[in-house]
Amino acid sequence: MKDLYSVLGVNATADAEAIKSAYRKLARENHPDANPGDTAAEERFKEISHAYDVLGDAEKRSAYDAERASPFARAGAGGGPRTGGGGPFGNIDVDLGDLFGSVFSRGGGAGPRPARGADIETEVTISFDQAMEGVTVPIALDKRDACSTCRGSGAKPGTSSSLCPECRGRGVRGREAGGFSVNRPCANCGGAGTIIETPCEDCGGAGSTSGRKRYNVKIPAGAKSGTKVRLRGKGQAGPAGTEPGDLFVVVAVGESERYTRAGDNLVIEVPITFAEAAMGAKVEIPTLDGKVAITVPPGSTDGRRLAVRGKGAPRMSGSGAGDLIATLRIVVPEKLGKRQKDALQKFADLDKRDPREALFT
Ligand SMILES: [Zn+2]
Ligand SMILES: [Zn+2]
Repeated sequence: MKDLYSVLGVNATADAEAIKSAYRKLARENHPDANPGDTAAEERFKEISHAYDVLGDAEKRSAYDAERASPFARAGAGGGPRTGGGGPFGNIDVDLGDLFGSVFSRGGGAGPRPARGADIETEVTISFDQAMEGVTVPIALDKRDACSTCRGSGAKPGTSSSLCPECRGRGVRGREAGGFSVNRPCANCGGAGTIIETPCEDCGGAGSTSGRKRYNVKIPAGAKSGTKVRLRGKGQAGPAGTEPGDLFVVVAVGESERYTRAGDNLVIEVPITFAEAAMGAKVEIPTLDGKVAITVPPGSTDGRRLAVRGKGAPRMSGSGAGDLIATLRIVVPEKLGKRQKDALQKFADLDKRDPREALFT
């Protein structure tokens, strides 16, 4: 596993702003749209996105820092649970919409009317459990849909629209300006390229009517906050005779009381006693489907991470699941009975090492 800081070319002490700007620069340079067919760039782009997904998120970054500093980070326990480090942060998708929307969007400017209707974005909130299982959510929204009377043509049923004589169906007209030919939308047909001679009475020739629409949106198991589900053709109706846009449903996922999410991995804090940490133990932890026993190795320190393969969040691709990462938390009793105190004192008398020795050398 490559060091995520070196992937972004920043120091481990870099602040959030420096990380963000390093990521943006690298992501732009290596974006697949800017390097078509370049698999090396694509690979770099994936690494960069992955690194930023971790380092760009304060919580994931501190978990990564802790793991990076831990002597167990690369130890791979073999058999049973393995120590985190191999891939607790694998398979993370990043939505680049906000970054590249402006850079890679279709060109606008003066031209024929849009060839399709506008896209719509709407948000649904689901619970953590629903996100783990997948859920179908009913939504309702007001939008323009193709007129059912004229089926979106705008022409009264039985009549048809004719080609605009001014622009001959192109929707634009050229105009000489300083030696250049400049295209402007045709004023005669409004850029549609066609003229409706007898408009549909229900939509007045627009080809669409507005109203409330209901859809059942299937959200896949493993959805994360920010996941976009696309309903093709369910956006706004376009101008008469054109395709509708798409409807994008942006998912917001509620929090779990037990787990936090790191990509497809789930992280759970597992309290253990000092005795369990020192001597090792088998402890049961809850997973999405029942309990599983993990082995706490003897001599475990607070914060040690143990991974249970395949017990994390389901992958949206439908193939398998991430890992469940157990973060050990040593709990210290607030009060001790007399016999407990005596036993601990006996232990203390036998433990002659000074844990603070290194502070003074
Ligand atoms: Zn109509
Ligand atoms: Zn025209």
